[in-house]
Amino acid sequence: MRVLLTGGAGYIGSHTALVLIERGHEVIVLDDFSNSSVEAVRRVEELTGSPIRVIDADLSAPDPATGSGVGPAALAGVEFEAAIHFAGLKAVGESVRQPTRYYRTNLVSTLNLLDAMRENGATKIVFSSSATVYGDPQHLPQDELHPVGVGLTNPYGWSKAMNEQIIRDAQAARPELEAVLLRYFNPVGAHPSGRIGEDPSGIPNNLMPFIAQVAVGKRERLSVFGDGYPTVDGTGVRDYIHVMDLAEGHVAALERTMPGTTAYNLGSGTGSSVLEVVRAFETASGREIPYEIVPARPGDVAEMVADPAKANAELGWRTTRTLAEACADTWAWQSANPGGYAGGSAA
Ligand code: NAD
Ligand code: UDP
Repeated sequence: MRVLLTGGAGYIGSHTALVLIERGHEVIVLDDFSNSSVEAVRRVEELTGSPIRVIDADLSAPDPATGSGVGPAALAGVEFEAAIHFAGLKAVGESVRQPTRYYRTNLVSTLNLLDAMRENGATKIVFSSSATVYGDPQHLPQDELHPVGVGLTNPYGWSKAMNEQIIRDAQAARPELEAVLLRYFNPVGAHPSGRIGEDPSGIPNNLMPFIAQVAVGKRERLSVFGDGYPTVDGTGVRDYIHVMDLAEGHVAALERTMPGTTAYNLGSGTGSSVLEVVRAFETASGREIPYEIVPARPGDVAEMVADPAKANAELGWRTTRTLAEACADTWAWQSANPGGYAGGSAA
């Protein structure tokens, strides 16, 4: 299949590109490189031995010809059968401070992509949604029947819930379109080669890249956001999923699309606390991770754990990698590339 990856140079997109190519698919990357480097694409080419077509474009920009959508302009004449839509802004705190920017980028990108797909006859879309659409958990583990879009606390989360609805409506209006909404839990880890991985700009918001930067000496200590939750050790519990398992989930979803719109959780079904992640990383890296307990982060919930049974059954997919492997692979990436893609590599 020829697959367009919007945001394909990013963390999850680059790993998915690699797995797709290894499975014999052809990949086209569309990215504006606002949060990624072309070096990631170059390394996927190096790992797979396959050249990748790159379209450098802002998917949320208006088409200069019509004033409405990038589709006809940047994607004119680009033939693809399916799209995996990763492109978007993803920092929760930033979305609270810059709501209009987040809504514009995340919603207009999706509208433009759907228009472009209709124009050139592409019939499959896989969307990067998030467990954040479930908001405060009403039951655990969370299955796909859990309410969506109730009491969400930030524009990023709302943009994911709204995009799910936009895709459902676009699919209903165009029955030949097969749509999949993938609700990721907490992606972590890197390709085991250490050549591609997560390369956050500035101070990482997420736990695993922060710990990795502490381990490599870039940051002094981890702030653990609260130890008063009703969890195993008082710290927040999340379902961490290895990015290679996540990438394989996209391939499974793409190869098994069905009529209509279908949502799947992509998670392991197992929760780990912040302190469990710290200990797993210390073991994997052989480095001590100094930390201090600080007040809980506003908007954080105690526990989020996926029920992945639907994806297991319908996609024939399940996670196979452990948290220990995710830590080892993150460490291989971080220690070989302490400055990320821009800093070159020690490999
Ligand atoms: P990322 O920032 O590494 O990747 C997103 C890519 O989209 C980047 O390469 C960026 O340059 C590109 N991009 C952003 N705006 C664009 C635009 N207007 N036009 C073209 N390209 C644009 O993030 P990621 O972690 O790989 O996440 C991929 C997707 O998965 C995002 O939609 C994110 O919201 C979603 N998601 C991520 C997580 C996570 O924890 N990483 C969890 C749940 C959902
Ligand atoms: N966390 C933390 N310190 C950090 C970053 C995160 O203690 O510097 C905690 C956070 O409170 C949550 C877990 O680690 O319990 C995962 O947070 P992350 O931001 O990675 O993902 P989230 O589940 O919030 O999307």
